[in-house]
Order: sequence, then structure tokens, then C-alpha cells
Amino acid sequence: MGYQLQIYLKSPVCISKNKGVGNVIETVDYVPGNTIRGALAIRYLEIQGRWDQEKRLYALPEENREFNDIFNSDKMCFHNAYIEGKRVVPFTASSCKYQGGFLDSKRDMHGVRDTLIELARYELTGEYDRDRFDICGEICKAPMDRFRGYYAKESEAIYEKGTIFKRFIARTALNEYFETASSGNLYTVEVLNEGQTFIAELNEGLFDRLKPLFDKSIIRIGRSKSRGLGEVEIRVRKTEEDNGHLLVNRFKELNNKMKNLVPGKFFFTLTLLSDAIVLDEILRYKSTIEINDLLDSTQNSPSEAIEVLQKFKLLRGVLSTRIISEWNYALKLPQEDSLSIEKGSVFLFMSESLSDNKIIQLTTILNTIENTGLGERRNKGYGRVRFCDEFHWEDNIK
Ligand SMILES: [Zn+2]
Repeated sequence: MGYQLQIYLKSPVCISKNKGVGNVIETVDYVPGNTIRGALAIRYLEIQGRWDQEKRLYALPEENREFNDIFNSDKMCFHNAYIEGKRVVPFTASSCKYQGGFLDSKRDMHGVRDTLIELARYELTGEYDRDRFDICGEICKAPMDRFRGYYAKESEAIYEKGTIFKRFIARTALNEYFETASSGNLYTVEVLNEGQTFIAELNEGLFDRLKPLFDKSIIRIGRSKSRGLGEVEIRVRKTEEDNGHLLVNRFKELNNKMKNLVPGKFFFTLTLLSDAIVLDEILRYKSTIEINDLLDSTQNSPSEAIEVLQKFKLLRGVLSTRIISEWNYALKLPQEDSLSIEKGSVFLFMSESLSDNKIIQLTTILNTIENTGLGERRNKGYGRVRFCDEFHWEDNIK
């Protein structure tokens, strides 16, 4: 059984990309875990708390433990909600420059390819298949281009791209001290259109807590909440879980493909399902993920399994970074900017030959990391990973 938090947009929603100044405010195209967590926390305070006029905040009864258990616990992770629960297309995906898109019988799309295996081959042998890497293929000789967005695998070799509808609307600025209209200041807000559903995964613990409190409740998220934007309905649901193949099988399938190109080595991939914030030992932001960064999430694993993991080295990363500027709504202050490695980034790790026993140890420890995530702020949706994702090895042309 799987668990989901569904967010149905009853009105347009803007979740601003950055907190900077300017008169066009762009929205992100998903609902970040941090936004969901903040909005539910405010709703909780409104229901269970008492308004303190002097301090201008909601106060909870002293005996209330539930709030901290749900909103300030490392065990309760609020994941990002993506359009209809689709996945982020990995950065290794590419498609025809002119007819780019998943294969489709109704429209003339030339299909999507994952380039990771060819990249690894080039890195290790200096050879690559130009017809599968640089150009679209036999029929169309167009160059290949990056392919970004969200996708779901609907059935055998049928993929669907997630479409997100947005538009711009004009607004008058608010006076930031009085929260009233500030005359003469017009700005434009980009919004996610109403009528769309964004879905986040939940773990069982969080499902049990959120279901009685928030199922079918209406809350407000994002910017300009006071003026007709940001109204959403929350649904907390059980689903038929389908997480695709078990990790041990994904590992085998990936390595079966790699074996023909580079014999005698073992590989695993790490694909970021959400942005990750990774710090080095002196707390600087990192722009890559190395084996040491995985070890934080494996503290309770047997030492032999950790040794197997440490045999791997980063061979290649296909990644991008971005600055996260978040706003602390409780304090009405901007938070310090941080650097994240963007969702969709892919890392390929390689080791020498491994025995069957070591492969089992490795996939067990990778499973643990998949369940806990990696890096900082995991309870706000950061650092979700998937190893040996099917996208890299299943269906050559999708
Ligand atoms: Zn083409």
C-alpha cells in the first residue's frame, strides 16, 4: 500500500521561484515539500491554537506535543508534489530538436533517449554510437536536444509527459507593513492554473497523522494568499503502490546493459527525485555527490556493507545547481540563500568486480539510503533519491 497527499488547485497558485525584487514574479512548476509543510502547520495552528493579539501569533496549549511530532520531526518528511504524481525527467534524457517528445501514435514525436549509458561508454572507452547520441536517428538527422519536464510510464513502453498549465495575471502591490494595497505599484504574477492536481508521496507515519487532521480540508499556499490566489483542497489517500522493480533487480538490469560495453566493472546510478542540499565537512555547499555523502544515511548499516559501498567512485555527474531562497513566514524574514543540486541530476558510480554476496550487501544499503534520502533538510522534501532508475536502462527509445 502507498500513501499520497493530493493537492487540488481550487484557485490559481503562485509559489515564487525566488524572493528577489522585480515586477514579474515567476512560479515554480511543482509544490515544494517545504511549502506544504508550512501551509499545513499554519492551518494546524489556526484550528488548534489561540490567537495572541499582543504577540500577533497563534499559541498552542502547553501540553500539545502533536505539533512538534508532525512538523518539527526528522521522521516526518514532506515530499514535493509533482503534477499528477509524475516523476522528474532525468537530466540525461534527450530528444529530437524538432520533433522532441515521447513516442506517440497520434503525433509525430521522435521519442526520448537516455544518454547515461553512452556517456559512461565514452568516458571509459572513448567510443560512442553517434546515431544514438548526437543525431535523432535513421530517418531524421536532426540534432538531439535536452528534454526536461515530468513523465509517467503508463504501460509497457508507453510514456506520458506531464503538462503543467500556467498563465500571467496582473496585481497591485501590497504595502509590506500594513498588508494593504500600495497605490501605483502594478506587478505581474505567474500562476499555476486552477483545476490541476499535484501529488506527493507520504510515508505511513505521516499518513496516519495527516489523515484525521487535513483530509478534504481547504488551505492556502504560495503568494498573494489574501487576494484570491492559493486556495487548494488537500486529500490524504491510500493508493495501490507501484514502485516499479525492486532495487536489486534494477541493479542487475543496469549492469547487464553496461556489461556488454565495459566488461569487469559494476555500476549504480543515483537520480535526484527532488533538489538535494549537500554540505562538505566544513559546512560549505557542495555541487556534486560523492560516495562519502551517501555514508551519512547508512549509520545503522553493517560495516561490511559500508565497505562495499566505499569501493565505488563517482565516474560522472550530469547535473545542475540552483540557489534556493526561502522565506520564513513565521518570522516574516528571508532565510539565508543556499545552494542545491537540482532534481533530475544524475550521478554514475563505478567499482571493480563484486561477488554475489557483496551485491546483496550493496543493494541492501542503497535501499536504506533510498528510504532515508540524503543531505540536509530531508523533512522539507530535499534529498530524495532513486538508484538504478529504470529510465536509464529500460526501453532504448521511449
Ligand atoms: Zn527527429
